[in-house]
Amino acid sequence: MSTAIVWFRKELRIHDNEALVKALEQHELIIPFYCFEEMEFGSTKFGFEKTGAHRAQFLIESVQNLKENLKNLGSDLVIRKGNTAEQIARLTTEVEVSKIYTFKDIHEEEIAVQDKVEQLDIPIDYSFGSTLYHVKDLPHPFEDTPQVFTQFRKGVEKKSSVRAVLQRPEKLPALESAIDLGTIPRVEDFGLTAQPIDKRAAIVAKGGEDEALKRLQHYFFETEELSYYKQKRNGLIGADYSSKLSLWLWNGCISPRQIYWEVKRYEKEVKSNQSTYWLIFELIWRDYFKFISLKHGNKIFFQKGIKNQDYNWSTDRNLFNQWAEGRTGIPFVDANMRELNKTGFMSNRGRQNVASFLTNELEIDWRMGAEYFESKLIDYDVASNYGNWMYNSGVGNDPRDRYFNVILQAKRYDEKGKYVKIWLPELKELDSGVVHHPWTKQEDLFGTPELDYPAPMVELSYWKKHY
Ligand SMILES: Cc1cc2nc3c(=O)[nH]c(=O)nc-3n(C[C@H](O)[C@H](O)[C@H](O)COP(=O)(O)OP(=O)(O)OC[C@H]3O[C@@H](n4cnc5c(N)ncnc54)[C@H](O)[C@@H]3O)c2cc1C
Repeated sequence: MSTAIVWFRKELRIHDNEALVKALEQHELIIPFYCFEEMEFGSTKFGFEKTGAHRAQFLIESVQNLKENLKNLGSDLVIRKGNTAEQIARLTTEVEVSKIYTFKDIHEEEIAVQDKVEQLDIPIDYSFGSTLYHVKDLPHPFEDTPQVFTQFRKGVEKKSSVRAVLQRPEKLPALESAIDLGTIPRVEDFGLTAQPIDKRAAIVAKGGEDEALKRLQHYFFETEELSYYKQKRNGLIGADYSSKLSLWLWNGCISPRQIYWEVKRYEKEVKSNQSTYWLIFELIWRDYFKFISLKHGNKIFFQKGIKNQDYNWSTDRNLFNQWAEGRTGIPFVDANMRELNKTGFMSNRGRQNVASFLTNELEIDWRMGAEYFESKLIDYDVASNYGNWMYNSGVGNDPRDRYFNVILQAKRYDEKGKYVKIWLPELKELDSGVVHHPWTKQEDLFGTPELDYPAPMVELSYWKKHY
């Protein structure tokens, strides 16, 4: 009887799981294995927690759900915490293993983890599963991924196709009873403080494949919100202005191909319009950043980015902290940062604005912002995060102007100030004409008990015409 380890990494699901399917085809016994890798819980270069409490909680829930689903199929999940290679080595002293099946990661730190596992001298079979288009189905070698998104998109749309979703196995072989299953850690076990749920959160999301599929069902077939995605996707309030599927995509609780084929089904059964296409369009953006990362390797983490563009960046901690804590005195920036800190989520519109404010207005090193997002976001995805930050900061080879005038944006997307008042209740008495620039009318109030909100840390001349 040959035994394989299925090493779950960022594909925490049973559906569309190539590593699991392949292992089952080749081996009589499989050991589903997950390790809370210590590398993911250290500090970033600028000293932030690499995985903050919101993401840690979500990850724990995702692993818990994976375990339940594996149990329902007759198997279980072996859970460890620490150094993955060491933990696999220890496990293989208890059970003879002939192969490891897993997914290849494409980023430096994750590659270092898999390199160590490779040194164990157990053959590894890698799958590639985090993108919509399989790397082998691209119309060009990944090294030739176009520098401009539109060119990439048109190429894949014309010449590539999305593979079918792999079936969920119906049954799994039982685990050997002698194997120590390990336990699911708590957030506190990583030295983090569990965060209470904030009732103002756009969505209170739970980790796991079941929740991911439920969310898809809700957004697509139950509410048919998918038909309005394009009109609503720049929203700021509530669960349904966008799909929120990023929350489950980052750790593979749902596969992008599953989303794609459900969109196709929706288009047949319910409606096909610009909105249904646009969700796929956004998933292609996600792919684009993954293939750009694959092409450029560590350059996505360099200050000069993939454009090799030099700017005079500041690393002023005082200015940075005002931004990070939501104390800039510019309500639209502060509301978004406070939402991020309290919930681990921020809308796409918010992300673009706070990133632009940090890099264009404060001229702070974009990597500090990217690392802060890495720490705080639940949906942190290396390629999407660093890719978007690079593009927003002018080091990403994008011909489009990514400068955002935060006052104009606030007035356009939060006309009545409803969003900022949710996260900045101290501004709730201000009228909508002034809430996005309270300093213009309420100068005498700053710092008084009537208005416990800071004066703006900068005021830019080109904001004035929007007051
Ligand atoms: C500075 C900055 C940092 C970001 N960091 C991340 C990150 O770490 N992880 C992450 O998943 N997204 C990131 N994004 C992209 C985007 O903001 C989120 O994917 C989106 O807000 C998630 O919400 P949603 O699932 O409701 O998106 P929807 O609007 O419903 O989009 C559907 C899916 O398309 C993909 N998508 C949408 N927009 C983008 C985009 N601009 N780039 C790449 N993929 C996209 C996501 O997978 C998303 O789930 C970042 C954007 C910016 C500007």
